[in-house]
This record gives sequence, structure tokens and C-alpha cells, in this order.
Amino acid sequence: MNDFNYLSDHLSCEEVPVETIAREAGTPFYLYSHRTLRRHFRIFDSAFAEVPHIVCFAVKANSNTAILRIFVREGGGVDLVSGGELYRALKAGVDPGKIVYSGVGKREDEIDFALRTGILMFNVESDQELEKINTRAQILGVRAGIGLRVNPDVDPQTHPHISTGLRENKFGINIEASLTAYRRAAGLKHLDIKGVSCHIGSQVTKLSPFIDALARLKELILQLRKEGIAIRYLDLGGGLGITYDRETPPHPSEYARAIIDAAREIDCTFIFEPGRVIVGNAGILVTRVLYTKENEGKRFIIVDAGMNDLVRPSLYGSFHHIQPVIRRKREEIVADVVGPICESGDFLAKGRKLPAFEQGELLAVMSAGAYGFSMSSNYNSRPRAPEILVRDDRWYVIRKRETWEDLDRGEEIPEWMDI
Ligand SMILES: *Cc1c(COP(=O)(O)O)cnc(C)c1O
Repeated sequence: MNDFNYLSDHLSCEEVPVETIAREAGTPFYLYSHRTLRRHFRIFDSAFAEVPHIVCFAVKANSNTAILRIFVREGGGVDLVSGGELYRALKAGVDPGKIVYSGVGKREDEIDFALRTGILMFNVESDQELEKINTRAQILGVRAGIGLRVNPDVDPQTHPHISTGLRENKFGINIEASLTAYRRAAGLKHLDIKGVSCHIGSQVTKLSPFIDALARLKELILQLRKEGIAIRYLDLGGGLGITYDRETPPHPSEYARAIIDAAREIDCTFIFEPGRVIVGNAGILVTRVLYTKENEGKRFIIVDAGMNDLVRPSLYGSFHHIQPVIRRKREEIVADVVGPICESGDFLAKGRKLPAFEQGELLAVMSAGAYGFSMSSNYNSRPRAPEILVRDDRWYVIRKRETWEDLDRGEEIPEWMDI
């Protein structure tokens, strides 16, 4: 459920017609509903009310500081994958005690930043990273909270590019090898072993991969406890899918029920790292039709948003519904919706049955709140789109549209190139 609905055939976000915003802000732009964001967070969080837990929003899904602030105000933490994300999280006011830091390639300066901040724990992905964190903690005179990111070797049955929990993926430490790694970690004086973590993939639409992973982690935790390594946090990552088209992912309450039931005997604080399920359907990308044309019987709708704004269709072949901002009865056609970028891979939809959209018309690319703006770029020297947040009957620019001056910021022409 989300708050993008037609009010007398005008697509609105909460109580604001999308057309009104487009008139003032120009296109393309990202548009988010505060009500949807907050509701999605609360649904997820309250599903786990009966067990101790922290919901650590995955910042990479949507990194805007105003959006992070919404979750901070709900008591949420964050899951980071870079120093830049830590910087954003602190700006948003996240409690360091609710920050977990994942990722295979943490740099020394990023580790130091996180150690100085006093985050809850690093999800460590290799033996060398364990050593590195231990050394940095010693130098800074602190103890580093850690967990190992274990690769449980389960198939999340999702797109290969967003599957992370298989043996052949680059993520985590094989579950068999993890026991040895934990024993090693227990001998490193500047580490405080707190947890076990995993993240099996993204856009997972079944419960069984989560439950299979949990079963393997549970065995590991019990084994570790036998050896005197006290595990207090069980981080099950993110990955719960959403409906883009016809997928039928489990509701967060079903997901929570299954996990709580399967984890009965382990007395741990749960950590979850949801991204997409919170923000995906809380945002849309609004774009305007520049031209329509027909080549050899193939129809194209050329819009002012491209793969630099929303790369998911080009990168993963992802599906996003495309709807008119002002709805009316008309014939349907089959067309490609393409952007202005000089790449054949620049499309938002391919061979899609759509209303016969017209030049100048506004379109809404739905379910664009996750991995939308956060994956956008300046390719083709296109200033990045603004991000706008609606709350009730008001709207707020939470990130300005970039200007041409933003494009060459930091660039310098060496003096010897004088003309
Ligand atoms: C990307 C990522 C997430 C969030 O995944 P979603 O599918 O958006 O829920 C959580 N944890 C880690 C470690 C990630 O890399």
C-alpha cells in the first residue's frame, strides 16, 4: 500500500497533485511520500515488537538525509557500506549505538571514522579485515564491536546480480570457515565479538531462503556459545522483496512470524537491515514526454529521465510500472519508453503495453524509491534530479536539482593548457 493515488484522475502524492509539483519544480524529479515511508517503517518495526530488535535501514537504498531522519525519529538505526554513508547517517542524527557497518572493502580511513564514532558493530567479511580492524582499534585505543558476515550458501532465488548469499558470491565468509575465523577473532584483544550476520540477497520474494539461512546461523551460534564465544546480536540482513509488477512477496508480518518462530531458542537481539521494502514503493520518478516517434513500426516514447536518473531497468532489466500523471480514456499501444542518453541500453520500459502517451505529458515511473536516486549519476553531463518529499498537503525539496555549475565542480584545467 502506498500514498500515490488518483484523485479525480490526477495522480497525487498524499494530498498534493503531482502536476502541481512538476509545474514549479520542473522535470524529472523524485517524489516521496512521508506517510508511506513512516508507515512502512512502523509496519516492519512493530512486526518484531515481541522480540528485542533494531531496525537498521540500509542507507544505500535511499541515502537522502531527510529520509534517514524520518527513520531516526521512529527509533531506527542504519546499515552502512561506506564512510560517506556514515557521514550522512550522523548528519541525520542516527544513534551510533544503532549503526552496523557492512561491505567487503572497508578502507582504513573508513574503519577509523567508524571506530571514533563508536558504532555498534562491523560486519566483517574476511580474515584480513578482522586483523585490520583489530590493529586500527589498538592504535585508536578502543575496542571494536564485530560480527562476522557469514555466507550461508542459500539460493535467494532472485536476480543473479542482487544475489549475495551463495558460495560463489564475493560476500561474507563461508559458514564452514567462519568457526575458525571466530576462534581467531576471540584471540584478538581489541575486538569485542558481538554478533553473527548474513545478508542473502535483495528482492527476495519467498520466506524459505531466509529461514534456511537462519537455521544455519542458529547452529553456528549454538556452537560458538559452547566454545565460550557469547553471541548477543543476530543480524539477518535485508532483502525482503516488494511488488513491482506481479510479485507476491511475504508481508513483513509473515516474515517476522516465520523468523521469530524459527529462532525461539536463540536468546539474541535481532538486527534487520531492510532497504527496498521500506522505501521502494514510497517513491516515484516523474518525467515528461519530450517526443514520440515510430521507427520501422516500432514506437518510442522519449522522456526527459534517463538511465542516469534510474538505472535499474538498464542494469537489471527491472520492471517499473509507468502511469500517466493525468489519466483519461485512450487507445493502448506497445512502445519502448526511452531516455535522452546516447546508449541503446537507456530505457525505462521495453515493448510495454501503455496508453498512447503524448508529447508534453507527465509520466510517473512507479516503485522508484529504492536504488533510484541513490544509484543516479551525471552520465552525459546531466545534472541530477531533485528529490521532493510530500507530507499531507505540503511538499518540500529535500535535495535541490543540480545545476550546470555543479557538473564541473572540482575540475581544473592545468595552467600549461592556457589558450
Ligand atoms: C543492500 C543491503 C541491504 C538492503 O537490501 P534490501 O534488499 O534493499 O533490503 C542490507 N544489508 C546489506 C549488507 C546490503 O548490502
